[in-house]
Amino acid sequence: MDIDSQIDEAAKILREGGIVAMPTETVYGLAADACSPTAVRKIFEAKGRPFIDPLIVHVSDMQMARSIAVFDDIAEVLAEKFWPGPLTIILKKKASVPDITTAGMETVAVRMPAHPIAARLIARCGFALAAPSANPFGYISPTCAAHVRDQLGDRVDMILDGGECSRGVESTIVMPPAVSTEGGALILRHGPICAEELAAAAGINFSQPKKANPAHPVAPGMLKSHYAPKSKLFLFKDLSEIPEDFSGRVVHFVRPSKVLGRDYWLTESGDVNEAARNLFALLRTLDKTRGDIYCQMAPDFGAGRAVNDRLSRASFKG
Ligand code: AMP
Ligand code: MG
Repeated sequence: MDIDSQIDEAAKILREGGIVAMPTETVYGLAADACSPTAVRKIFEAKGRPFIDPLIVHVSDMQMARSIAVFDDIAEVLAEKFWPGPLTIILKKKASVPDITTAGMETVAVRMPAHPIAARLIARCGFALAAPSANPFGYISPTCAAHVRDQLGDRVDMILDGGECSRGVESTIVMPPAVSTEGGALILRHGPICAEELAAAAGINFSQPKKANPAHPVAPGMLKSHYAPKSKLFLFKDLSEIPEDFSGRVVHFVRPSKVLGRDYWLTESGDVNEAARNLFALLRTLDKTRGDIYCQMAPDFGAGRAVNDRLSRASFKG
């Protein structure tokens, strides 16, 4: 079936209340009609995701976005500058969004994905799609269709294959001052768009929340342990931190000059975006065989910060 027919088929499934895995530029999402409580419930059940963890709602245009959420001035600027793209904005929700989608909160997380298949699918449906990452809750997010098939293949109605995700880590999540419970603008999750870019666009600073997630007593997207492989993962900055008797796998940030059998790397060139793109697929590959992993932290800027955030959540807390 060509991709147009597949998108038609997927839209039909979604209209009938089914769930479809779709590619986005960040990671693969597991989508359902965001305004149908029965459809959204299927997402939670397929993932084993607790109902207290709110979903991100994906739209294909501003009219659709405005039908589910209220945009303040800062949100308007951010949407104008970064959409379609890997930025999720927390907004005051409209009545059309059911409680199950937002875990009972008065705010809703909204994003307009840039991936052409996601964009076309949402437009074809004509309604917004709730879509968390298409993986069992707590495991590493999928960055290609095979990752989804491996873990959720028998629990979803359809998987749209759009190749590898170009960003490879989940969207940046921001909370504009208008909905922030701490007054100023907040970054709730680091992602491909960094604090400096947000500040330059909006003319205000974005800071880390003092509480884990000010919007919610429990904040699973911000859980300390998340995105985690089954193997034990330890982090290092400098090679000297790896114990001499360590016999497991070593993931370097950039390809080392001398490569041993146990060595892997996140990027050939040292580019933080390339490292983000490769991170989850490499962790999944390594997780196919058991054995401890030592992984080097990325430089702490741009998408490197998102890589370090995911690594620290994935790391072993013994
Ligand atoms: P995921 O869909 O797995 O990429 O994660 C979505 C994450 O977005 C959740 O786990 C929350 O941390 C965050 N989120 C979604 N909706 C809201 C909201 N209304 N307020 C604050 N955070 C939210
Ligand atoms: Mg997720």
